[in-house]
Amino acid sequence: MTEDRASQVQRVKAANDIVDVVGAYVALRPAGPTFKGLCPFHDDHRPSFDVDPRRQRYRCWACGKFGDVLSFVQEHEKITFPEALELLARRAGITLEKTADSQQNRGRAVMLEVMRWAAEQFHRCLLDAPQAEAARVYLGERQLNGETVRRFQLGYAPLEGDWLVRLAGQADLSQEILEQVGLIAKRLEGSGCYDRFRDRVMFPIRDARGHVVGFGGRILPSSPLSSRAPKYYNSAETALFSKSENLYGIDQARQAAATAGYLAVVEGYTDVLMAQQMGIGQVVATMGTALNARQVQQLRRFVPRVVLVFDADAGGTTGVDRALEVFVTHDVELRVATLPDGLDPCDLLVQQGPEPFRAALTNAVEVLEFKLTRVLASAAQEGVEGRRRAVDEVLRVIALAPEMPGQAGAIKRELMVTRISQRLGLKEEIIWARLAELRTAKRPAEREPANLPSEHDAAADGPQKAAPLELDLLRVLLADPPLVALAQAEIKPAMIEHPRLRLLLEVLYRLSAEGEVPDLDNARCRIDDSDALIAKALELQEVGRAHPDRPAWLRQILARFQERQELPLKQELQNQLHAANDHAAALELLQQLQNRGRLSGQG
Ligand SMILES: [Zn+2]
Repeated sequence: MTEDRASQVQRVKAANDIVDVVGAYVALRPAGPTFKGLCPFHDDHRPSFDVDPRRQRYRCWACGKFGDVLSFVQEHEKITFPEALELLARRAGITLEKTADSQQNRGRAVMLEVMRWAAEQFHRCLLDAPQAEAARVYLGERQLNGETVRRFQLGYAPLEGDWLVRLAGQADLSQEILEQVGLIAKRLEGSGCYDRFRDRVMFPIRDARGHVVGFGGRILPSSPLSSRAPKYYNSAETALFSKSENLYGIDQARQAAATAGYLAVVEGYTDVLMAQQMGIGQVVATMGTALNARQVQQLRRFVPRVVLVFDADAGGTTGVDRALEVFVTHDVELRVATLPDGLDPCDLLVQQGPEPFRAALTNAVEVLEFKLTRVLASAAQEGVEGRRRAVDEVLRVIALAPEMPGQAGAIKRELMVTRISQRLGLKEEIIWARLAELRTAKRPAEREPANLPSEHDAAADGPQKAAPLELDLLRVLLADPPLVALAQAEIKPAMIEHPRLRLLLEVLYRLSAEGEVPDLDNARCRIDDSDALIAKALELQEVGRAHPDRPAWLRQILARFQERQELPLKQELQNQLHAANDHAAALELLQQLQNRGRLSGQG
């Protein structure tokens, strides 16, 4: 019998007292029933960090960080939940058995294995196959050396069209999985599959842990396909890969980034490769998308500072404004580096060696400063009127962005306003007033802070406040896992409007359907890279646990959901009633409406 994950988590938590563990990182002093210390998650000057041994929780009263012993280690060490579990198990001398893997984890493992296999095939083809000669010549011309090619496992996908399909057949791999990971596709006519990457240099895209999750393919300039195929082609969005989330080179950049204290973000695969080849390791690339919230969140796990690299001409207004918006909404230090002569990083490195690029990174300017310098330069000749327009141009970006919640957000806004006032020579009150005006004008509906951390919502889901009813549902379910089955019978995930809460509910349902305990400890293993969501869930759980009669509470919640569902239907009947001109039809509608009312009143 293997121990299930939830009981492992419980055993590890029981063996690691939160005061002992946190005390190893932070000096704690007893203060009544709890312990206090300087918060390790923000720049704390008075002890705001509170560790509660009775509830085994910590909370920072200044920055709002909250969690248990596992989330503390996870966040402090910047590691994943399974890694934190392993670390604390080792600390307590517990040997973790392999858990019985869930279906989903097995599925993911199989997909990763297929990607690893494919990367290996493309790589070997590039190194040895006669038909890869043109690809080898191409990489040579780009000045990429053998060591870089091996280290990043570059490859070549031949022109044939069914090269990988045949290899997979020989290796007895399922075509279905190759299709799932986006390597092959079914032919529209006839039968069988074809390779999605043809006559391309292959760049394996890895996650931070080094697993191949996708590929980027550059068509050979000499290819017969090059006139009608896109120059770059990425893996389609799959369960493993998301173009707007993954960052090329992150696995190789982690170490150097820790030393440098920042990560530089460029746009091309070859920019990353050339920088690495010249000894500048802290570089990653986006996959042709502007830097977004999810990526920032990932980068923020490794370093406090991000340097965006713009070509001199690419750093247009949109790019800078977008960067400023990311800075305003996230707890990250964001700088902008511009490269000389309109060169992209790869060309600059090849033509002038590593020094100019290194200097550009070192001299990168804070994004707000960068924006201010720009608007001031263009408004220099225009006196007061110019300054007024300049201040508006900067404030508009800040006003449009969703506010970063909590104390950290407030501090950041203060600092920004102070800086703007100093640089533009205007009183701070004037800046605050103008900012408030712009906010009211631009987004009247979104002035309230979001209930969940905005960094999660900003990119994918839009800023959205969670409905109290939905929060209540998660509060009761997280506090009382046996109730999940009851809720599952009545509430479909699609009925939850808030995307992050819906995700949480889906995970609980899935656990329950697979016969596992649908609790937060188990859910944590399923929710990748979303520490803030877990922190929120822990808080919801706390509130839920304080409720004296949870089954009754859940019944009320279910009834309110029922009402909410029926609302549009009732509205519709009411509208028909107003429109009905014959008496009999009106009576019938009225009866329906009353039945509705009774049904939902029963709950
Ligand atoms: Zn704090």
